[in-house]
Amino acid sequence: MTTPSLPQHDDAQRQAARAAELAAAQTTYGWAHQHTYDRPGQTPLVLEPIAILAVDKDHPFPANQNPTFVQVVEIGTTLLALIGNIIVSLTNLRDVGAVALDEPTSNSTSESKGLLGKVRQLGKSVVHAGERVLDVAGDALELGADASKGLAALLAELGEHHKRGQALIEKARTSMALGDAGPKSSGFAEIAAELGQLVKDLLETLLKDAFEAVLGAAGLSGKATRIQAYADQFQTLVVPNVVSTTLSDACFARMRVAGPNPLLITKISAFPAAFPVDRERFRAISGQDPDAALASGRVYLVDYAALEGATPSSLPAGPKYLSAPFALFVLGEDRRTMAPLAIQCSQQPGHSNPIFYADDGESWELAKLHVQSADGNYHELISHLGLTHLLVEPFVVAAHRQLAVEHPLMLLLLPHFQGTLFINDAAINTLIAPGGVVDQLLGATIESDWKISATALGQLDFRAHMLPAELAARGVDDPAIFPNYPYRDDALLVWRAIEAWVRDYLGIYYNDDADVAGDTELQAWIADVSSPEGGTVQGIGEVLRFDTLVELVTMVIFTGSAQHASVNFPQLDIMSYTPAMPLATYAPPPTHVSAPLPSTTELNHLPPLQMALLQVIVGQLLGGIYFTRLGQYDRHQPNGWFSDPRVTEPLAAFQSNLDLVERTIGARNLERPVYSPLLPSRIPQSINI
Ligand code: FE
Repeated sequence: MTTPSLPQHDDAQRQAARAAELAAAQTTYGWAHQHTYDRPGQTPLVLEPIAILAVDKDHPFPANQNPTFVQVVEIGTTLLALIGNIIVSLTNLRDVGAVALDEPTSNSTSESKGLLGKVRQLGKSVVHAGERVLDVAGDALELGADASKGLAALLAELGEHHKRGQALIEKARTSMALGDAGPKSSGFAEIAAELGQLVKDLLETLLKDAFEAVLGAAGLSGKATRIQAYADQFQTLVVPNVVSTTLSDACFARMRVAGPNPLLITKISAFPAAFPVDRERFRAISGQDPDAALASGRVYLVDYAALEGATPSSLPAGPKYLSAPFALFVLGEDRRTMAPLAIQCSQQPGHSNPIFYADDGESWELAKLHVQSADGNYHELISHLGLTHLLVEPFVVAAHRQLAVEHPLMLLLLPHFQGTLFINDAAINTLIAPGGVVDQLLGATIESDWKISATALGQLDFRAHMLPAELAARGVDDPAIFPNYPYRDDALLVWRAIEAWVRDYLGIYYNDDADVAGDTELQAWIADVSSPEGGTVQGIGEVLRFDTLVELVTMVIFTGSAQHASVNFPQLDIMSYTPAMPLATYAPPPTHVSAPLPSTTELNHLPPLQMALLQVIVGQLLGGIYFTRLGQYDRHQPNGWFSDPRVTEPLAAFQSNLDLVERTIGARNLERPVYSPLLPSRIPQSINI
C-alpha cells in the first residue's frame, strides 16, 4: 500500500492517478435526492427530499458496500434467535392448549408432549445462541406436521427461513475459512442479497394474515387483556429490565436523560405560551415557588413540536394516534432527583387539551403513555433514522466521490462508514417502504413519517448540532445546574476521546492551516457534502483551519459510532417491550381529568398484541447486532488497517483512552441506575444496523 498523502504533497504523476481514480468513482457513486416506490395500479409514492446514494439500473449498488461475511454471520445468528423465539411461542401455544384451531386427531399426542417438553426446555436455555435454536427449530418442524393446518404451514415457513439463515451463515463461514473474505470474492454480493431477501421474507411472513390468524386463534393478537401478555412475548429472549418499572414517574423522568431518546430535555426560564402551566398546581406538587424554580434552572421541558401536523394512520389494525405533546419536569431543591409535573398532549392549549398534572391519577398515567409513544416516534424518525443514518450517508457518498483511497482522511473514515450505505439502502427498500414495518408500527402515515425525518434533517445546522454546542443550546451542559444526565456525561467522554484521536491522527499529515485550505480533495468533499446538488448538509461552513477540520471529522465519527449506538441499542433493552414505548397509541389522548377509570384503560391505548410482537422482533433485530468496535481498526483486518507506522502511537493512545472511558462509565454505573449504551465496548465503529 502506498503511503497516505495529501494531494498537494504528491508529484504530478500521482496527482493525475488520483484524479483518474476519483473520476471513475464518481460514475459508481452518484447522488439521488428522492426514492420512488412504484405501486401497481396506484400513483407511485416518492420519498424526498433526502440526499442518498443513487441506486438504479444505471447505478447498481456498489459491491464493496455489501456486508462482510463476519457481519452476515452476526446478522444471521440474531435472525435465527428471533425465528427461534417465534417458533417456541407458537409451539408453546399447543402445549398449553391455547390454540382453538382444529386439533390433530392422530394418536401422537403423548409423543408430541414429549417433544414439546423438549422444545420448551431447549427454548428456555436458548438466549442468543443460534446453534441451540437450530435444535429447537428442528423439533418444532416435526411438531408442525402434526399441528393444525395454519400453524403447521406457518411453522414450516418459519422453519424454511431458519434453514436459509443457517445455510447463509455456513456459506459465509466457509468463505471466511477459505480466506475468501473480500468484496471481490465470488459470492460476496450474492450472500448480501440473500441476507436482504431473507430479512424481507421473514418480515413478510410476520405481516401475513395467516400469521395474525394463528395468533388470533390463540388469543395472542388483538387487544391485550392483561399487561403480562406483552412480557410473555419474550419466550427465548431476555425480558427487558424495564418491564418492572415502566411508566412509574421515576422511570418516565429517567427516560428523558438515559432512555432511547435522551436528546430533548431542555432547561426553560419561563413556561411556553402554548403550555400555560398552572402556577398553583406547580407549587402544590413540587413544593417549590415556580419563579424561584425557573430562575434557578430547576425546570425542564420536552417539546415534541416536530410531530405536529402528522397524519394519523390506521394501518394495519388502526385507527392509530400520535400526539405532539409537551412535558414538564422539575428538579428537587437539591437537584438530585427530577420528577415529571405536567403534560399537555397537544401543541394547542384549550378546553379539549387540558394540562394533566402528576396528581391527576389515571388520566396522568394515560398522558405519560402518549408522551412515551410520541418519544418513540420522535426517536425512530428523527433521532435515529434522520439524524444518524441519513445524516451520515451524504458524508459517505461524498467521500467515495472526492477522497482518493490514499487520502489519510479517507483511510480514517472508511471503517466508520462500513455498512452504512448497505443498511440505509436496505431500510429504504424494506423497513421504511410503504406497507413496511415502520408504516405498520408507527402512529402516522408513511408519508408523514418521511416528512418528519426529512424536515428534521433539512433544518439541521451541522455545527450547532455538535455535542458540546447542542448541550449548551438546551441549557443542560452544566453538571452543577443539571447533575443527573447519564447520556451527556458518557457522550462527552467518548466525544473527547474521539476528538483527541482525530487531532493526533490528522496532525501526522496536516502541518498547518494552509495544508487544510490547500487540500483540494478535502475541499471538494466538503463542497460536495454541503451542495444542494450533493449532500445538502447545512451549516458545515468553510473548513480552512486545522481545528475546524478536527471538529468536523470528530462530529462525523461520533455520529456514526457513539451517537448511533446511544439511540440504536436501546431499541432492544427498552423499546422492544411495547408498554415502555408504544410506537403508536390505539386510543386518543385523554381530554379531561377524570375519576379513576377501569384498569383496562391503559390496555385500550396500547398496540394490539400482534403489533407488539412485531415491535419485539424489530427492536431485537436492530438493537441486537454489534458488528465491529470503536477504536478497533484491526478487527477483521488480517493485515491491520493503518500501514503508516506513525499511526501506531496515537492509535494506542486512543485505545487506552477508550479503556479509561470504559472504566469510568463502569464506575459511574455503580453509583447510578445502569446506563450502558455508551460503554466503548458497546459502540460499533459505524452505522451498520
Ligand atoms: Fe440503526
